[in-house]
Amino acid sequence: HAGHGGRQRFLLKLSGEAFAGGGGLGVDPDVVHAMAREIAAVVRDGYEIAIVIGGGNFFRGAELQQRGMDRARSDYMGMLGTVMNCLALQDFLEKEGIDSRVQTAITMGQVAEPYIPLRAVRHLEKGRVVIFGAGMGMPYFSTDTTAAQRALEIDAEAMLMGKNGVDGVYDSDPKKNPDAVKFDALEYGEVITRDLKIADATAITLCRDNKLPILVFELLAEGNIARAVKGEKIGTLVSD
Ligand code: UDP
Repeated sequence: HAGHGGRQRFLLKLSGEAFAGGGGLGVDPDVVHAMAREIAAVVRDGYEIAIVIGGGNFFRGAELQQRGMDRARSDYMGMLGTVMNCLALQDFLEKEGIDSRVQTAITMGQVAEPYIPLRAVRHLEKGRVVIFGAGMGMPYFSTDTTAAQRALEIDAEAMLMGKNGVDGVYDSDPKKNPDAVKFDALEYGEVITRDLKIADATAITLCRDNKLPILVFELLAEGNIARAVKGEKIGTLVSD
């Protein structure tokens, strides 16, 4: 459906890992620029795009916890990492001539607006990209759960989950098992019972309970973000 003055609105979840490029840690400006070009193209095509970015290229709270740090503090570090990714993407969107706003769940007035849902919607209606940073602002949550929650609150059509190095959901890890089989479509229940690693369970149940479709696709393949918003058959679609 198209309920926003004829324009379709999507929530795009970008994994933090993708931002690192081959480097593994930090931000690779070439990769971010390539993503910004793809996003700019769909915005010019008239789609409304809101984005949640992960922070796995900097810190994951659970990993720091395993190495002896306090979990909640580690999670805050993880959330702060996502904000650096947001600023990098904002910079390259600007270079592509696309207006954007970063809104963070942890207030940091010098670099971003606070998360204000109605204002986010106004930005989208004006053709701006809205980039949500700092996750939910709460330890023990993930940016996948944040993406689902933001998608629901801004009334997006679907959550588009761009993955790094995998083109959909498989019955086993395709990097380890050459016979792994890809699903074109899945029901929420199957994702949970088969324990398929698309997103954490909190995110999946939030989508299931509110019937928010999830498209899992390869993020860095050229033209894929456009294919995803246009509803072309790529990746794996998770729905009822
Ligand atoms: N995080 C958090 N609460 C949130 C979102 C994120 O505590 O609402 C922390 C958590 O430590 C997580 C890290 O931020 O490991 C980075 O986010 P995530 O692992 O979701 O990033 P991705 O794997 O998508 O790159």
